[in-house]
Amino acid sequence: MQNPFENALSQLTRAAKISSVSYDTITRLQSPEREVTVSIPVEMDDGSLKIFTGYRVQHNGARGPYKGGVRFHQDVDMNDVRALSLWMTIKTAVSGIPLGGGKGGITVNPRDLSRGELERLTRGWVRALSPVLGPQMDVPGPDMNTSPEMMSWMTDEYAQITGDQTGATFTGKLVAAGGSEGRANATSVGGWFVFDALRDDLQVPDNAKIAIQGIGNAGINAAKIFTEHGYRVVALSDSQSGVFNPHGLDPEEVETYKREHGSLADFPGATQISNEELLTLDVDVVIPAAKENQITAEIAKKMRAPLILELANGPTTPEADDILTQNNISVIPDILANAGGVVVSCFEWEQNLQGEHWDEKHVHQKLHEIMTREARNVYQRAQDLDTDMRRGAFVIALERIEEALG
Ligand code: NAD
Repeated sequence: MQNPFENALSQLTRAAKISSVSYDTITRLQSPEREVTVSIPVEMDDGSLKIFTGYRVQHNGARGPYKGGVRFHQDVDMNDVRALSLWMTIKTAVSGIPLGGGKGGITVNPRDLSRGELERLTRGWVRALSPVLGPQMDVPGPDMNTSPEMMSWMTDEYAQITGDQTGATFTGKLVAAGGSEGRANATSVGGWFVFDALRDDLQVPDNAKIAIQGIGNAGINAAKIFTEHGYRVVALSDSQSGVFNPHGLDPEEVETYKREHGSLADFPGATQISNEELLTLDVDVVIPAAKENQITAEIAKKMRAPLILELANGPTTPEADDILTQNNISVIPDILANAGGVVVSCFEWEQNLQGEHWDEKHVHQKLHEIMTREARNVYQRAQDLDTDMRRGAFVIALERIEEALG
């Protein structure tokens, strides 16, 4: 398995070669500003004590407080968190919001825990890290396996420790607990706005067929939004397997089936396919919405879709990027395509600090404005530099970060 931090550094170096930012700026971005590893003792339901490992990486704060999600996953390690924190620095800069980049995680399979154990672990992460968090210092949000309820536990724990009543130290909370309208599906709505802004330039047909890897928050919401806009979602998958129907799948039915059966096996009216088959289908758009390193060089060689919209973070390796470019496959990169989540997280932070609550229409209007503007910026910069959109987005971000570094 490739080390995602090496991939992120490689993307940084590749963009640096075509940007005018200084060597010093790039050198600073190669090393996170602060990395913290903590032991989190949790009392299990049987009375035993178990120690979990938690992480927070504060990558760069030149443009504002560190911002980034907390991932609960059995495979998470420091290199994942480092990579994700670097991408957050770039993402907040690409979207032009006043935040820096950070990321957190806990090495755990949350499905192995009871609800009570999960709550104690989530609160334990905050207790261990509270000295380095805060509305003007570091504002964690959700990521894989982190629900709005878990973000509300974090907020409550932090308030108990510090007395902070703004709620602005965490985003992705339940709406009733200070969360923003529109946060739950912000990543996929933002991805749709980006796609919508670029689809004419990228010559996407009106009746495009779409394959989506992953049916978590990002994937299933994207399936619903693209379906609402008249596109045909022909394939969906979870970590074990996928389903394919050339006439289109109903995302609501797939979601309900997964909830009731725990997997997509034997889903009626569709062919079972593997994740690799899904990525290499003959469709118009592939949307990776699961995890890193899914589009490897080997898979890239077999891909037939002319467009990839990256809702997952880091789904494409640098070697795969080169192959996709050679094969005229366009990639709308994660640092633009999935930025809707952090943009609405930024709105949530602003609402909490100002004691306001915006309605969903207002949130979507502001999100639309930012995503459309920055999608056009990235596309144009890539054209001007005669390069791909990932490098175009990185170049824009690097210039904005350098300006903030002074
Ligand atoms: P999630 O936990 O809700 O869902 C993850 C999905 O991926 C699940 O359907 C799971 O079955 C599937 N999956 C896991 N491993 C897989 C594999 N090897 N092959 C195929 N499918 C696999 O997570 P999410 O919040 O939807 O996040 C998905 C991706 O989107 C991550 O890369 C995350 O960093 C990124 N992202 C999410 C948000 C957000 O707001 N949720 C924002 C930005 C980026």
